[in-house]
Amino acid sequence: MPPEPRVAATAPPRTIPYSRQSIDEDDIAAVVEVLRGEWLTTGPRVGEFERAFASAVGAVEAVAVSSGTAALHAMMHALEIGPGDEVIVPTLTFAATANAVLYVGATPVFADVRPDTLLVDPRSVESRIGPRTRAVVAVDYAGQPCDYAELQTTADRYGLALLADACHSLGATWQGRAAGTLARLSAFSFHPVKPITTGEGGMVATDEPELAERMRVFRNHGITVDHRRREASGTWFYEMQDLGFNYRLNDLQCALGLSQLKRLPAMVARRRTLAEYYDRRFAEVDGLRPTTVDARAEHARHLYVVQTSDEATRATAYTALRARGVGVNVHYVPVHLHPYYRRRFGTGPGSCPVAERAYERILSLPLHPQMSDADAEFVADAVSDVVRGAARRAA
Ligand SMILES: *Cc1c(COP(=O)(O)O)cnc(C)c1O
Repeated sequence: MPPEPRVAATAPPRTIPYSRQSIDEDDIAAVVEVLRGEWLTTGPRVGEFERAFASAVGAVEAVAVSSGTAALHAMMHALEIGPGDEVIVPTLTFAATANAVLYVGATPVFADVRPDTLLVDPRSVESRIGPRTRAVVAVDYAGQPCDYAELQTTADRYGLALLADACHSLGATWQGRAAGTLARLSAFSFHPVKPITTGEGGMVATDEPELAERMRVFRNHGITVDHRRREASGTWFYEMQDLGFNYRLNDLQCALGLSQLKRLPAMVARRRTLAEYYDRRFAEVDGLRPTTVDARAEHARHLYVVQTSDEATRATAYTALRARGVGVNVHYVPVHLHPYYRRRFGTGPGSCPVAERAYERILSLPLHPQMSDADAEFVADAVSDVVRGAARRAA
């Protein structure tokens, strides 16, 4: 018989992850109910989730897809963006924002961010506009909506579509308007670390039914089913009008999404309470600067991002905090610095100096609705201690 695994003499410390899903008994019951029923993939829950989501954000339409990445891709397709076109995206984002532009054969052009909010800088956007520019993607970094008034003015002046990567900002508002209604098309993600989850999943919100229809065809191979022609010609008729993908979100996922959506206000409220606690604790720590919140924004608090005073402190803090069980992370490697983009487009350091400098100093602290008050206190104590220690050693 193999020996029993031995328990380590010193158990590794429990790690508080930077984010994780929150699943309750209602969520579980909602999925089980679908499993006992007739529809595993496209069934009644898909439309129910789309309608509930649209009404939650105040949009006319919402189209469910299989991921946030698929949502971004569908958005590009809906506007017929393609080869020869350019789309401006901030560099401080997840790679998928820019990758979606490549999926349709267009070229992403990287804009810099503001040093205080780390949101896309409208002046940098304007400086990137050229004759081939078709659209601008505003990324609501960390859950804070961008300056949509200024971005919309710029987009209108040059005849561009303003789109939102709202993967972080479900539950946020800007000047009283909800994320999902701030741009022509807004993409959301339901990955487990995001504001609500369906395992994997995504949604596009829009006020334009024609764009929603194009995306519904796109998520199903580009196939349309004209029910009248089906009746006239027998029951089998369908035709492919466009090149689409299998980007469907299934009934199991939509049932989970419906249940999670009901819990969104409570989950966002918990995130805000924890973030306010961090704000109070870090106000008194020299060498640690939380990201600025614009007075016009009601932040969804997807990420709690702080900036250290320099790169060395961030490196020390990252290692020391991880060793203490504080699951810190870095969001993000600026996309224009990724080897793929450097090789393919010749991008590199120097083109987005604010994002490049921020990247050396940012740290995302644990923040998710499952965290207890004691967890938040543990994180704040560890962060304060580690940052003060690094400052003492540097002095
Ligand atoms: C998570 C995320 C995506 C991609 O979403 P997936 O559901 O993981 O495909 C895109 N953009 C941003 C800003 C994200 O955080």
